[in-house]
Amino acid sequence: MNPSTSFSTRSQAMGPSAIRQVLKFTGMPDVISFAGGLPAPELFPISELRRAADAVLRDDGVASLQYDASEGHLPLRQWICAHLDRTVGIQAAPDRVLITNGSQQGLDLVAKVLIDPGDIVLVENPAYIGALQAFRAYEADIVGLPMDEEGVRIDALGEFLRTSRRRPKLLYLTTNFQNPTGLTTSAERRRHVAALAAEFRLPVLEDDPYGELRYSGPNIRAIGSIPEARDWLYLGTSSKILSPGMRVAWLVVANPQFYERLTLAKQSADLHTSSFTQRLVWQFVSQSELYDAHIERLRAAYVRRRDVMLASLSAHLPEGSSWTRPAGGLFLWLSLPQWQDSTELLQECIAQKVAFVPGAPFWVGRDVRNTLRLNFSNASEERIEDGIARLGRAAEAALV
Ligand code: PMP
Repeated sequence: MNPSTSFSTRSQAMGPSAIRQVLKFTGMPDVISFAGGLPAPELFPISELRRAADAVLRDDGVASLQYDASEGHLPLRQWICAHLDRTVGIQAAPDRVLITNGSQQGLDLVAKVLIDPGDIVLVENPAYIGALQAFRAYEADIVGLPMDEEGVRIDALGEFLRTSRRRPKLLYLTTNFQNPTGLTTSAERRRHVAALAAEFRLPVLEDDPYGELRYSGPNIRAIGSIPEARDWLYLGTSSKILSPGMRVAWLVVANPQFYERLTLAKQSADLHTSSFTQRLVWQFVSQSELYDAHIERLRAAYVRRRDVMLASLSAHLPEGSSWTRPAGGLFLWLSLPQWQDSTELLQECIAQKVAFVPGAPFWVGRDVRNTLRLNFSNASEERIEDGIARLGRAAEAALV
């Protein structure tokens, strides 16, 4: 480093993502990776997207290559409004939908317009690392709230709101098939959260990249659909249902002043999301038969992979471990015996050519060593079985 470079205090609060670090190693072909949240590569609808790309360039070529509005491509925003109404019960107008460069940018923009150094952000504990990274970059004071099988514990949220001398700026929740635990917030819990947040004027950011990937049970309506909900924001993305490489996501904002500020923040960040990929996503999703068939294909493949992973864990993990059984999404969460350290286990697993993400960096303000996150969407059923057997052997070896 050039000794004359003096970085901002903010940049010193930025740390590397534990996931990105493990991903460096998982690119090797003989490694079985349960680390990233990567979709199955063989399920990308490449020929359909080739046709969609042709149609975009044929019918809307100039606009798809030109600068665009910061808010995003209007037909895509209209489709999102209709889709959210149908799937999660949110009723929003297109002028409350901001297209972002992945939902990761949505997290960054919300943090940018809301957080001054030292402001409190409430999150589930454990929580998605990328959100923690975004909030930390703006020097938030992040407070983790305990969870149970139904999501964030409402008693803990209520107590914090009633007793804290400082008013928190934001509550961040991943309500469907949470990253990392796979847990889903129940309908009742969502109603309680909406009521409490309204009482304490607390904005709620609901991050929902996985809601469409439900393998059993009915959809649960979003917090933003609950009549008591006031200052809510909802993040959706095409990353897990179409392609993370296209970087097209949407932030829906109840409060018009909040929306305006977010749009200005987006302008200064990147002017707008790619005109071309927005139209490409729209071409694909607006053909409802194509879209529905694709989602069905993903669900059918992922539910089998989840079941293979659950069966393999039962067969190969030594006694004393437990894991979640998610009803959707891409991840499950494994708890090893209390005394076992998943970061040490990862070293042994890397020697066995299998990878996962240790749980420690997902925890906020708690030193929990014995948890880890497993992704089940990326590897084939055979490799899942093989990889979990290797993980089981490594965990067994650590016992002696
Ligand atoms: N939020 C959550 C909970 C996630 O799991 C992810 C991706 N792993 C993201 C946001 C970011 O997704 P993207 O930027 O690709 O839309």
